[in-house]
Amino acid sequence: MKRFIYLDNAATTPMYPQVADAMEPYLRASWYNPSSFYQPAQEVRRVVEACRSYLAASLGARSSEIRFTSGGTESDNAALKGLALANASKGKHVLISAFEHHAVSESAKWLLRNGFDVELVPVTKDGYVSLEAFKAALRPDTVLASIMLANNEVGTLQPIKELAQAAHANGTLFHTDAVQAFGHIPVDVIHLEVDALSVSAHKLHGPKGVGLLYVKRGVKCEPLIHGGAQERGYRAGTENVAGIVGFAAAAHVAFGSHCLDPQNPNFATFDSAQAEAAILEHSRNISALRSMLVHILISNTEGISFNGYIDGSLPGILSITIEGVSSEALLMKLDQEGVCASAGSACASGSLDPSPVLLAMGRTSNEALNTIRISLSGQNTEEELFEVSEIILDAITAIRSA
Ligand code: PLP
Repeated sequence: MKRFIYLDNAATTPMYPQVADAMEPYLRASWYNPSSFYQPAQEVRRVVEACRSYLAASLGARSSEIRFTSGGTESDNAALKGLALANASKGKHVLISAFEHHAVSESAKWLLRNGFDVELVPVTKDGYVSLEAFKAALRPDTVLASIMLANNEVGTLQPIKELAQAAHANGTLFHTDAVQAFGHIPVDVIHLEVDALSVSAHKLHGPKGVGLLYVKRGVKCEPLIHGGAQERGYRAGTENVAGIVGFAAAAHVAFGSHCLDPQNPNFATFDSAQAEAAILEHSRNISALRSMLVHILISNTEGISFNGYIDGSLPGILSITIEGVSSEALLMKLDQEGVCASAGSACASGSLDPSPVLLAMGRTSNEALNTIRISLSGQNTEEELFEVSEIILDAITAIRSA
């Protein structure tokens, strides 16, 4: 049988079978519109609200603060545009970090084209937004700041709580993109002190095309999608019921709750101690796999370095720069061997341009073009990583001697 090893979990994760099982009844038997008044539809409404309540609790939020969306991109767009537009009386200056995901940086460019002033907060060579640089960039008219919780290419975690506190001291709203973090490390909106936070289901073994935006009670956020009164008027459109169920089911697995019984979907009450233990175990397991890979690679070849790889980064992401080895050539060889990895953000793959994330961290174009990203999940095994490290080492030798 042909080998298949998937190491691109920051792009998307395989859906857990129990997630697909939980979704199935809402694709087949329970296909009603949750806004309809008759009983089968009201049962579907109950399930949607149970999912909202579980996900809200897992974030330390209230149900009324959660809006379901079509994924991380929509959540980021809704936060950046919605918060800036609704609060523009404070000012029109918006801050984002220099290495945000395109969903944030392109939304910020839209704001720029529409009368806002956007500024990038620099990141350090290790992939951090320093509190000093952030404070220095704040102005009296800074209406909104958006800094990601975990970077999708190098995995570094930002000091969100401190950044949000500094923003608030300036009267500035604070949004964070937690798309890569949720389900992998603890994410709690009260602890982080954020006004808005984005999540996407498909990064934690849930379905694609569904996510959520948390908006703190009392914070004004202009809706982007107009129509019916769904999501309390903040996001019109009939809910993606099966997607929402799959999202909650994936969170149940990530947080160690009992599996959903598709025939009788009673959602668990979120148990924070159990969730913390499940997340810690997940994190320990995949960071052990990542350390093993790092150790094998540095012990067996020269000219290799890891971007942003420090204790405290997201455990599953590893960005590797290899001298004399283009990511294009290496990824092609990995693909031929049945190994899926990437050069960086999935939305930029196919582009031969150097990664803006790595350039923002001060890497040269050449270093950025010699960089691959490996991203792990709890489904990867030691055996797979032994195999992959051999494949990578052989490919490095072949490419360097070509
Ligand atoms: N933000 C970050 C940090 C991401 O990594 C991604 C996806 O790669 C997104 C936003 C977009 O999420 P979605 O694919 O659900 O639109």
